[in-house]
Amino acid sequence: MTVTDLGNDTFQIDTEQSGYKGITAGYLIRGSKPTLIETGTASSAPIVIAALEKLEITPRDLATIVVTHVHLDHAGGAGHLTSHYPNAELVAHERGARHLVDPTKLMTSARRVFGSMIDEVMGALLPTPAERVRSLGDTAAIDLGGGRTLESYYAPGHASHHVGLIDSMTGDLFVGDAAGVYIPETDTLRPATPPPDFDLDIALRTIDTFESLKPTRLLFSHYGPVSKIDETLDRSREELRVWVELVREARDTRLDLDHAIAMIIERTKERYAALFENGKAMERFEALNSTGANIVGINRWLDKVEANTYDFGDAAASAPKTSK
Ligand SMILES: [Zn+2]
Repeated sequence: MTVTDLGNDTFQIDTEQSGYKGITAGYLIRGSKPTLIETGTASSAPIVIAALEKLEITPRDLATIVVTHVHLDHAGGAGHLTSHYPNAELVAHERGARHLVDPTKLMTSARRVFGSMIDEVMGALLPTPAERVRSLGDTAAIDLGGGRTLESYYAPGHASHHVGLIDSMTGDLFVGDAAGVYIPETDTLRPATPPPDFDLDIALRTIDTFESLKPTRLLFSHYGPVSKIDETLDRSREELRVWVELVREARDTRLDLDHAIAMIIERTKERYAALFENGKAMERFEALNSTGANIVGINRWLDKVEANTYDFGDAAASAPKTSK
């Protein structure tokens, strides 16, 4: 398994989602109250447990497990991990926390969108007893021990139950999926705009919130740390605007989903030239953050804000191999 020391007792863990390396990260802050940020999928739980063992965290040691939002690639392992770490409190925004106690609705809707392969590829989110789950309001603090805290800020747009978490000691900001998906080997940033929650205006406001926190580093759940803060957040904004414009055009010209995907791939070829040249990186990130899911998510938002609605056809046909 791959554990990367990011300094100041902060470690990046490759959760090896769906067998792919380098697409989904969890992070451990190893203070006197060791805290795991993001669980990865249920299928990744053994990998995360092995990584924590390597970092000398025994089952009794882990104090907190916090997720940026309750999508399966970020919180799917929550139930497995709370049963392995009996003292760990599970923390999520109040709009998402109830799904960690009773995952039935979340799993049903994931299966509806992505099919039963979700169970084979990602595994099922297992419940955690309500008394071990803490709900975060719009701002909150998580104690890391030794006067160090992880401050939580409500960060919707990608999902209505998303938070950003900033380390009071280092200024590291755990951005989840709210600033998009960063692909380190090609230095590419793509938006993450899946249904049903994506909202452009709210997503842009969240990026403003992130900027106002003056972080020293952005830690993407997909994938890894970035130090150029202003440039990266500007890119996040621009990516969102570019994709929304392209989906608007696909609606106006009445493309079906397959043609919309082809059009957007063609029109972003130059933008993501390095990614297109790297077939393996492209395949991994398409599996994680598919063009089809981004289109469907943006379209759903445009349906709410435009005068007309538009149906691209069967969303499930172009669903990603893994959930976002
Ligand atoms: Zn994600």
